[in-house]
Amino acid sequence: MSRRRIAILGATGSIGQSALSVVDTHADRLEVVGLAAGENVERFASQIERYRPRVVAMSTSRAADNLRRTGAWSPDIVMNDVGREGLVAVATHPDVDIVLCASSGTDGLEATLAAIEHGKTIALANKEVLVMAGGIVTEAARRQGVAILPVDSEHNAIHQCLHGHNRAEMKRLVLTASGGPFRGRSASELERVTAADALRHPTWQMGRKITIDSATLMNKGLEVIEAHWLFDASADEIDVVVHPQSVVHSMVEFVDGSLIAQLGVTDMRLPIQYAFSYPDRWSAPVPPLDLTQPRRLDFDVPDTTVFPCLALAYRALRGDGSQAVVLNAANEVAVARFLDGSLSFRGIADVIERTLDAQKPAAVRTLAQVRALDAWAREHALEVARGIQLKV
Ligand code: MG
Repeated sequence: MSRRRIAILGATGSIGQSALSVVDTHADRLEVVGLAAGENVERFASQIERYRPRVVAMSTSRAADNLRRTGAWSPDIVMNDVGREGLVAVATHPDVDIVLCASSGTDGLEATLAAIEHGKTIALANKEVLVMAGGIVTEAARRQGVAILPVDSEHNAIHQCLHGHNRAEMKRLVLTASGGPFRGRSASELERVTAADALRHPTWQMGRKITIDSATLMNKGLEVIEAHWLFDASADEIDVVVHPQSVVHSMVEFVDGSLIAQLGVTDMRLPIQYAFSYPDRWSAPVPPLDLTQPRRLDFDVPDTTVFPCLALAYRALRGDGSQAVVLNAANEVAVARFLDGSLSFRGIADVIERTLDAQKPAAVRTLAQVRALDAWAREHALEVARGIQLKV
């Protein structure tokens, strides 16, 4: 059996490292052909040494120069481009079968689309790609007959639940949310929380930005928009339930009222492996979920007055496609300001709401239009954030 040839965008991040660990487990089935990373030269050099990819890229020319000076790099490895062009070069390399899109923020947009145009299977971990350009990306995938396999654990769960069913049988998607570190707190209790408080997530180990998104529930909001594009479900057909144990990764309700859920341990290697192995299933070096131990599974409705970001995401989804672009951009700006201590926790939602209020209807039929609207939203959000700076 020939091995599936993988490219990983965002190789040194938490998803990228988990993906390489999946490759280690299934070295007879998977081969690393391309790797792209941000600026972590040291970690990237050791990955290159170990996996000997054919094409690599880094986000800046400075990082690329530093990489060339390490013993890991050799002239037979292609490295011509940096930044977004570098991601595109890795994603479209002719030897690549599957592209894992796990680069941070909005950088992976062009590369994901380019990979689809080149007929690559997409394993999608980067939710911004669908939030910003869901219409463009899913239309291209349909046209090219390319599969988009979700790595985000909730969407991966839904993909598993829907396997063997058609769209007409699906009634409702139920995304589970851990509730984040501030579950059960009141709005007034959240007034003084800091970035350090928010970075202590109870169940998942993730990057800083997504951990804050998880504390505000914006992560779930972005996932609702992502689910809309992946599974052709409207805002009214997608529910969120708070499930603090994170054992049920999400569910699908079918037209006959049956609810099918996917349960498992919280380990990102599982959804990554599923995306790499689909439509097959492979064994995994992860301890199974032990249901013989006493445990409870709680389900609760999310409180959108305490966590208004979730409601803002639904608002954006119910609008035209452009509002999700603004939501995402304003959120990124607001989270960065919260992380550097210049915006309060509550201020994150305020910045997003005021930026959405200020937006004029815009076409988002091309990536250039998406990028232009994204730039406007970032600038506007920054202005709003400066206006409501934390008073110290
Ligand atoms: Mg998720």
